[in-house]
Amino acid sequence: MYGFEERLKGEGFEVIEMEVPAVSPKANEFRALCEKNDCKEYGTNWGCPPGVGTLEECGETLKSYQGAFLVMKRYTLDPKNAKEMKRAKDNLADSSRRAADMIRPSAPVKVLGDGGCDYCGVCTYPGGACRYPLQRMDSISGYGIDMEELLKKAGKKLAFEDGAATLNSIILVGKTRK
Ligand code: SF4
Repeated sequence: MYGFEERLKGEGFEVIEMEVPAVSPKANEFRALCEKNDCKEYGTNWGCPPGVGTLEECGETLKSYQGAFLVMKRYTLDPKNAKEMKRAKDNLADSSRRAADMIRPSAPVKVLGDGGCDYCGVCTYPGGACRYPLQRMDSISGYGIDMEELLKKAGKKLAFEDGAATLNSIILVGKTRK
């Protein structure tokens, strides 16, 4: 409809259309994991808790969209190598943002990703407003979305591999403007 799926597929991504995910009954467990801060992103940007808002606010945001697309790619890399993982994460984020840019003239759009937003390198959180709200990527787990469940619905499985990592984003699309 907007041409973004073809573009993502051309860049090696799998794109699966699905219902807009809801906040999971296990969301508080996911938030507790965020607070453990193993990823070191908690409280550092507007895309992660607590900056991303309460679970209720995230739930309202999800409900304001009408459709969703799961975007995924398997990267051959060493998951313990932080540089390789960052490169893969940036590749997914860049392509997901460009896809959202293609949709935006026709419909509201928002991208959720693995981890928080690092668009600016150093985020304005918590002292200033987000510099680029349209490019902000919020954390899937921060939204209380059960990724394992979502993948199951898409006919996929969470995979942990020694020599590869499969990364995901979710593109939320609102009502098409007339
Ligand atoms: S776009 Fe920039 S200011 Fe906004 S959340 Fe992302 S890193 Fe922070």
